[in-house]
Amino acid sequence: TLNTAESVAITRRSLPVYSVKNQLMNIIREHQICVIVGETGSGKTTQLTQYLEEEGYARFGIIGCTQPRRVAAVSVAQRVSEEFHGGSELGQQVGYTIRFEDSTSEKTVIKYMTDGILLRESLGDPELERYSVIIMDEAHERSLNTDVLFGVLRGVVTRRQDLKVIITSATLNAEKFANFFGAAPIFKIPGRTFPVDTFFSKTPIEDYVDGAVWQAIQIHIQAPLPGDILIFMTGQEDIETTCEALAEKIGRLEKPRPLLILPIYSQLAADLQAKIFEPAPEGYRKVVVATNIAETSLTINGIHYVIDSGYCKLKTYNPRLGMDALLLCPASQSSANQRSGRAGRTGPGKCYRLFTSSAYVTEMLDTNVPEIQRTNLSHVVLLLKTLGVKDLLDFPFLDPPPAENILKSMLGLWLLGAFDLDGNLTKLGRRMAIFPLDPALSNLLFRGEEFGCLLEAVTIVAMLSVPNVFMRPHGREDESDSAREKFFVPESDHLTLLHVYQRWRAAGCRTDWCAKHYISGKSMRKAREVREQLLEIVRSEGMAETSTDEWDSIRRAIASAFFYQAARRKGIGEYINIRSGVVCGLHPTSALYGTGLSPDYVVYHELIMTRKEYMSCVTAVDPHWLAEAGPALYILKQAGEEGVQAAKRLRERRAKIEDQMRL
Ligand code: ADP
Ligand code: MG
Repeated sequence: TLNTAESVAITRRSLPVYSVKNQLMNIIREHQICVIVGETGSGKTTQLTQYLEEEGYARFGIIGCTQPRRVAAVSVAQRVSEEFHGGSELGQQVGYTIRFEDSTSEKTVIKYMTDGILLRESLGDPELERYSVIIMDEAHERSLNTDVLFGVLRGVVTRRQDLKVIITSATLNAEKFANFFGAAPIFKIPGRTFPVDTFFSKTPIEDYVDGAVWQAIQIHIQAPLPGDILIFMTGQEDIETTCEALAEKIGRLEKPRPLLILPIYSQLAADLQAKIFEPAPEGYRKVVVATNIAETSLTINGIHYVIDSGYCKLKTYNPRLGMDALLLCPASQSSANQRSGRAGRTGPGKCYRLFTSSAYVTEMLDTNVPEIQRTNLSHVVLLLKTLGVKDLLDFPFLDPPPAENILKSMLGLWLLGAFDLDGNLTKLGRRMAIFPLDPALSNLLFRGEEFGCLLEAVTIVAMLSVPNVFMRPHGREDESDSAREKFFVPESDHLTLLHVYQRWRAAGCRTDWCAKHYISGKSMRKAREVREQLLEIVRSEGMAETSTDEWDSIRRAIASAFFYQAARRKGIGEYINIRSGVVCGLHPTSALYGTGLSPDYVVYHELIMTRKEYMSCVTAVDPHWLAEAGPALYILKQAGEEGVQAAKRLRERRAKIEDQMRL
């Protein structure tokens, strides 16, 4: 038998990218920028960084590789550290950085990170001096941050001739990327793919979870082993339902062969995520139920069958609500094709689409709409302004977002005090950008400082930045609900979170305490980490570390930070948003709901959209507190009109520029 290092070496040599290694290295040596296209699984993400290190590129700086997804950054770094020079420890030569989590060290030469991290780093290091190579991986995903990085890097490469930029894409339409950098060469890694038979559903399927479960069981009964199944769902909820239904159905079969059912989504614990890469035990069939993370970001070997729900969740700006919301949307045709391709990596495969061929043609867009054209831009606008970009409409976007979106975001930031009336960054705006947070949450920290409760504000922000701390295990909903109620601070969910944190600290952060109260110990530890990191920034900024036990002061800070997300009571349990006029309810998990409190005015952290709009994380406020922030609300109404005029002028200007370019 082979030892692990030997088998890893053999696997590495069998990847398609290995056969073109020399050609690739030549192209990279001869060009500053290049685009590399290759099928999912060809080895782009895990091998390129290592080849570059072998070639000596790490001598002049770090080899950085960006990922649109946190899960991918962590998982790939883990894998590459195992491969690196016969095996190394994660966090040494190979490491990763994602928001609030840094596993790199002085020794790190290959660094995987989310695209958002690199963008933030460019604030403090505009020339990205630490890097000798930057790989923008998964560029076809067109994530918001990758798209912005394109524009930032175009500037950096003109000033730093020694920096190599490599763009990788799993799809062929890479010419746009190449042209953006002025005719960069495109290198195609020869693929080794097998034919995939694709079957459409004959009639529309009502419930794609039921459809997928039925299809998976059919395959499992009829098809010989080996041959694993990959099911594409949209998110944690339908993935969990699918897994449960599969387990239940398989349990009811007579003489079934065993099935290994594995979920994968971004909030899943890292050790469970890693399981999807392990081969199924002898005699088992593996079924992986995934979000579109398995479309191109993560490659799972041994898949012969794909079942495609035909849907995905997309973060989309909702103009009516004035904010982003996750929307269930039909996947695009190119997504559907990527998904079916996952069945043909190791041999001929089959793909079962849970939608009709006419839905494919009439309801699915040919490609995804880039995130930059469909989401809230306030964070990006703040970053670009901080980077010194004067006119955002002149920034070299790969695909510019609608001018109105930029203006709306500017308006929102102006309301928070980040811009002056001329659209220049204020001192406050500059300070907001220093925190790796949504501008609204940074604002809560500044308001906390003002109202003498900065430390409490930091805790609340940390608690809002981690996955839900309240657990609600299946079958024990009643116990966990009453456990949660014990923490309720009647007038505020924000204070309830603070209360949980304080009680956890008082209990010595004990695991048994968490279990007893149905609190997620993992989320709590994460919150403590986030809190520490925010406090570091607070200290380096020289902010006054004020603290109070007067909860009204904290509520006041919350009211003045979220005044633009305020709602007035309209009826029983019904509120009307002061700014947008949208009617919304209290979310059933809210302390206010639970204690039957129905105050006249509230502010909220976010809206959740299901059949109805619900405010989640709510605090009761005194209308006088809102009135203090009120002049801004009043000005907003006026600026709203002015904003519309400005948008019109800018649209005309853009049309003129486009005309000139056509000439
Ligand atoms: P690409 O980026 O071109 O899609 P990758 O470099 O991600 O390809 O994958 C190359 C190979 O490495 C695939 O066969 C994949 O299954 C394997 N691989 C990647 N991550 C892991 C992991 N964590 N454990 C085991 N194998 C992995
Ligand atoms: Mg990849």
